[in-house]
Formats: sequence, C-alpha cells, structure tokens
Amino acid sequence: MLTRFAPAPTGYLHLGHVANALHVWGEARARGGRVLLRIEDHDRDRCRPEYEATVLDDLDWLGFVPDIYPTAGFRAGPCASRQSDRHDIYAAAAAALQAQGLLYACRCSRKHVSGAWSPGSRVQSPESETAYPGTCRDLGLAMDTADVGWRVRMPPDTVTFDDRWCGPQVQTPADQCGDLLIRDRRGNWTYQFVVTVDDHLQGVTDVIRGVDLLASTGRQVLLGRLIGRPSPCEFAHHALIMKSPTQKLSKSDGDTGVRDLRAAGWTRQRVIDACRMMGHTLEDPLP
Ligand code: GLU
Repeated sequence: MLTRFAPAPTGYLHLGHVANALHVWGEARARGGRVLLRIEDHDRDRCRPEYEATVLDDLDWLGFVPDIYPTAGFRAGPCASRQSDRHDIYAAAAAALQAQGLLYACRCSRKHVSGAWSPGSRVQSPESETAYPGTCRDLGLAMDTADVGWRVRMPPDTVTFDDRWCGPQVQTPADQCGDLLIRDRRGNWTYQFVVTVDDHLQGVTDVIRGVDLLASTGRQVLLGRLIGRPSPCEFAHHALIMKSPTQKLSKSDGDTGVRDLRAAGWTRQRVIDACRMMGHTLEDPLP
C-alpha cells in the first residue's frame, strides 16, 4: 500500500491538512503501507516557494515523516516529487495522448466555459459544475500556438468505484465536466492531469483525501485509463473540517494556519487534539 500527502503550496498548512495527514499516515501505519510526499505546485500563478518552505517546516514540526521523498529532499533543490520539476514527465504523457488522437487545442476562456471555474481545476462545487460544451473539439486548432489550452476527448464511459469511506459511486465525467483541460491557456498543467499522471507513475495504490475531491475521482480514473494505468487506485474520501456548515477552511483566508498556532504557543499535541475534536476521531498514528 502506497498513499500520498500532496499539499499545494498556495498558502500555509492549516487544520484541514492536519486532519488529512492524520488519515493518510493513520491508514498507512494501520495497513503496513508507506506515505509519499508530493508538492503539488503545478499552478505557477498561485504557488510560492515561501509557502512550500513553511509546509515542509510544519510537517517536520508535526512529526509527519514521509517514507518516500522526505522533506530534506525538497529543501535540497530540484526534487522528483515536486510538480514544477516534473514538466518533462507531463509533456511526455501529453504527447502520448496526442499520438492517440485524444488531444485538441481549445481557445475558450474560463469565463466562456462557465463563468466561475475551469473544468481543469478541482471541483469547487459539484452542483454548480458545467460541462465543457465541446466548442473547439472539431476545429482542428494548432496545438503549439500561444493562448490555447489542451483538452482530452473524454469517452462517454460511466465510472464506478467503491470508496472505502463513502461507499459505491457512479460518475460519468463526459456529463460532469466534458472534455478535460490538461493544460491551460497560460501553459500551466492542470490539477486533474498532473495528479492522475503522478498517482500512476509514482505507483500510488491508495488515494486518501477530503470529500471535496470525490466528484473529481471518476475523471481521474478515466484519464488514468487513457494514459495507460492498468487498474485504478483505491479511493477513500474523508469529511472536511469546516469553518461554518457551508464554508471550507481555506489557506488563502489564513484560516487556522499551523504556523500561527505554533506562534501562539500551541503544542503539536494540541493541534492534533483540535483536529480530533472537530470530528476526526482518529488514533494519533505517530509514536
Ligand atoms: N493538492 C491538493 C490539495 O492541496 C490535493 C490533491 C489530491 O489529494 O488529489 O488540496
């Protein structure tokens, strides 16, 4: 069993990440598995090296030690598990999709697609998701010009999987999101693409993450098939720590940052206990 902890350095680590880490390390320890650390900094506009540095420091302070790609490996410079150092891998995966005739260039703006979010990014709210209508699908636009994104022709398949904690799921990505954006118009690889490529090529067997990503799973399974993954991961989606009944914690709002709690004198134990009190009734996996 190989699972991963995969923060995006777009802000400070917060209690939501700590809850996720408790689930990730807890499952790995209970099942004799290993944890890999991946820094998901594919979005060059939102990620910052300073945030990565604090994520690594906070993980060390909390005592969550990755079995594969320890924090020191990231501090030392380029690292095989930092997405911004994996460009060639994503380019090769995209080229393989293109060779199968599965990619096309798209000049639609995010606004054109839905007004609020892009189908290449994580699903903010499944209810408000709008499928890409396929505007550029058959236009034959050149792939190598500036200001075009790349999309994958998603087959109409329905994906079923049995989530370890949420139970049986049925999702049809072509209806949910339509053709998936894998590279945006600014040249950023998208979350859905890089996470699928990485989970496949890094040999991840179990994805353990918040339930806000449940609706993204079917498309990652389907995309995984298209890039040659023989069988999908196991998935386990857990409840989120919420700020209010409808609002998630957010790094960008500076919510409950581990860094601030540390500065305010909290101990590691108090941080872990705070997560437990917020519904994450987990054993502390660490000695
Ligand atoms: N990088 C994502 C985040 O920070 C997690 C992605 C995943 O677990 O699939 O929310």
